[in-house]
Amino acid sequence: MMIPRWKYIGIAGGFIFLLHLLASIHPTYRATTSPFNLLPSGGWRSGQPPDSAVPKWAGEGLPTADDLRDDEALEGRRKANAVFVVLARNSDLWPFLDSMRQMEDRFNHWAKYDYVFLNDDDFSDEFKRYTQSLTKAKCHYGKIEPDHWHQPEWIDEEKATKAREEMIRKKVIYGHSVPYRNMCRFNSGFFYQHPLLADYDYYWRIEPSVKFFCDLNYDPFLVMQDENKVYGFTLSLYEYIETIPTLWDAVKEFVQEHPDYLPEGNAMQFLSDDGGETYNKCHFWSNFEIGDLNFWRSKPYMEFFDYLDKKGGFYYERWGDAPVHSIGVALFAKKEQIHWFEDIGYRHEPFQHCPQGESHTRGNCWCDQGNNFDFEWYSCTKRYVDMF
Ligand code: GDP
Ligand code: MN
Repeated sequence: MMIPRWKYIGIAGGFIFLLHLLASIHPTYRATTSPFNLLPSGGWRSGQPPDSAVPKWAGEGLPTADDLRDDEALEGRRKANAVFVVLARNSDLWPFLDSMRQMEDRFNHWAKYDYVFLNDDDFSDEFKRYTQSLTKAKCHYGKIEPDHWHQPEWIDEEKATKAREEMIRKKVIYGHSVPYRNMCRFNSGFFYQHPLLADYDYYWRIEPSVKFFCDLNYDPFLVMQDENKVYGFTLSLYEYIETIPTLWDAVKEFVQEHPDYLPEGNAMQFLSDDGGETYNKCHFWSNFEIGDLNFWRSKPYMEFFDYLDKKGGFYYERWGDAPVHSIGVALFAKKEQIHWFEDIGYRHEPFQHCPQGESHTRGNCWCDQGNNFDFEWYSCTKRYVDMF
């Protein structure tokens, strides 16, 4: 059978388009636009952190890496009431040590914030020994109470099983997994209620096998505190719709019942392109979070989580903690309270944020500036930037 020549051209064109599309989601795809054209003007995001967050012995500008090895000078520095939070299994030990070693080398060797490790099981002695040995700060280990972890008994198991089978058929990532759903629900609504976190105000979430590319010569927790921020992120992207088909309906119902929970100047624009009618699927990638625990503990967010939980979508669908946190913070906080840590180089497979220009130099970053997800087509960070 003869295929007309114009059809060959069509097929070749389609193929080239597809290749381009695939290449643009590949992490090593080179950014062609300069993110600096898109950064908001003013504020310290494009310059130096506020003086209050810089260790106080520093003279002009920021301390150098050598300054930060001077233990005596660091004695008695101002700190935030903050902690690292790590949810992990014993089997996550080695991949987690990889992340922890980098956090210590880039920041915590001088900042000395404690760690809280949480697990649905008991941590092994091996896990405790190796994690504590990497830091001069103190590590605390806690077990999660069963009600905060397991699928609640009021979930209709038959319906949940059907939903999982359907997701397996559609090849949805983690679609088959109940533990993954437990984890998403715990991170959405329970981690901040754990007794080991009760006395802290701020947290930084760390996961296994992530990378921190740059020296941090100021204290991001103090930026959060001094500038009244509630949520800090590095990467943002679109959620798979198969995991959250009815999430936005639930959100809209909740908002209709509690319009007073939404402050003037919130970040709805980040979530919706039509004033809240539909969700654009944008969320901050929650494997990295620097946040205010008291925000999650506030009445609007706790009621919001409870409302979502009762819908059963953590089990009947596969609602992730990233969209749930992002929607909560974008609706119940002011947009200025959400902070993009543009100068913290970070990778969680398969995406990375690599600081550009001056931030890269200042942090002695070791990531390739050309490998940067910020303004790739699958990222939502431009929407964040465009709010200001
Ligand atoms: P992904 O980043 O979405 O691919 O999910 P991860 O496998 O990295 O899990 C997210 C976080 O939850 C990581 O810190 C894991 O160590 C932790 N985690 C995942 N599943 C479990 C679990 O069943 N038990 C415990 N204790 N931690 C888990
Ligand atoms: Mn992960």
